[in-house]
Amino acid sequence: MSYKSGRHFLQIPGPTNVPDRVLHAMSYPTIDHRGPDFKALGAEVLEGIRPVFGTTNPVIIFPSSGTGAWEAALVNTLSPGDRVLMFETGHFATLWRNMAQRLGFDPELVDSDWRHGVDPAAIEKRLVADTGHQIKAVAVVHNETSTGVTSRIAQIREAIDRANHPALLLVDTISSLGSIRYEHDAWGVDVTVAGSQKGLMLPPGLGFNAVSDKALAAARDAAQPRSYWDWEEMMGPNESGFFPYTPATNLLYGLREAINMLNEEGLDNVFARHDRHAEATRRAVRAWGFDIVCENPEEYSSALTAVLVPDDVDPDALRRLILEDFDMSLGAGLSKLAGRAFRIGHLGDFNDLTLAGTLSGVEMGLQRAGVAYQPGGVQAALDYLAAPEAARAQSR
Ligand code: PLP
Repeated sequence: MSYKSGRHFLQIPGPTNVPDRVLHAMSYPTIDHRGPDFKALGAEVLEGIRPVFGTTNPVIIFPSSGTGAWEAALVNTLSPGDRVLMFETGHFATLWRNMAQRLGFDPELVDSDWRHGVDPAAIEKRLVADTGHQIKAVAVVHNETSTGVTSRIAQIREAIDRANHPALLLVDTISSLGSIRYEHDAWGVDVTVAGSQKGLMLPPGLGFNAVSDKALAAARDAAQPRSYWDWEEMMGPNESGFFPYTPATNLLYGLREAINMLNEEGLDNVFARHDRHAEATRRAVRAWGFDIVCENPEEYSSALTAVLVPDDVDPDALRRLILEDFDMSLGAGLSKLAGRAFRIGHLGDFNDLTLAGTLSGVEMGLQRAGVAYQPGGVQAALDYLAAPEAARAQSR
């Protein structure tokens, strides 16, 4: 392997490019996790992370991937055999369903076509029919990373309320938190699941649960056996700053820095930046003559764009060429979309020129791979990015 000059473009939809400030913060020596310095760090990140979730309630941080945080959400709120209503937005919703099944719950997955988000009307209809309140939780993915479709969580909450149903609302924000507007408290979410490696701009390794009072009350009655994931002990750090077992100290240094960066930019600006880069990406994709997997403009993801390719194009060969020739990683089509799509991640630590480079890499790849496409996608994106703010808003 020879040295590849310049920065690798990690344009999969997470893990994302980790900014230098976060890398430097993580390089401090590991400290005693029972000592006074750790207490201050623990207290600072546990307090500082709450606004990122849009909550004033506690957030629990596990040394884990997002999958661990998924498991924590289920095992703390449910009892063996409990029914969970889920919605097949794509690969990750299906994996969460599989996990619920393996853990001994009774998940019910509403089918969908992988091109739309959760249908609030379908949730409402199912809950209205559940007169005996067998369904204990509705568990959905906010931003389906396999399709680039963002579900409307506030409308799902309204659907649950209209059905007058007591089910808990569990939401996976693993690829949306810190990139796409999200309001744990205002949207009445009971458990929000997140991970460190996407909008939070950290390496993989931290899993999060934001918890409502209703979720904490449910946890007191939930009979599912649990140990590592048990919230009870993990609530301790929210009081004392100390974790019950060895925390991922250096990732927490990184988290402190990432929270500072999000606050310096301002969360509203972070979300607007992601919206703008997503719109520029969609303009490029349309100009190339390709379809976007997401069919409903209200559900376009601002974190990634999944691109459908014509039948005669092998998206994995295209991704391989782009990696080898231009040192950029793009996301593969997953399960039902394998061989039919590729995904462009535009989330995390990202600016206009990173997007320009990303889209240039794709367009050069299309050309070099001999794919039939319309040139001009990059130009369409640049025209949008270069336009003054007012012109951009009008042309949306
Ligand atoms: N949910 C979503 C929406 C994801 O995008 C991912 C990973 O990409 C997961 C869950 C699983 O998280 P992890 O791979 O960190 O365990």
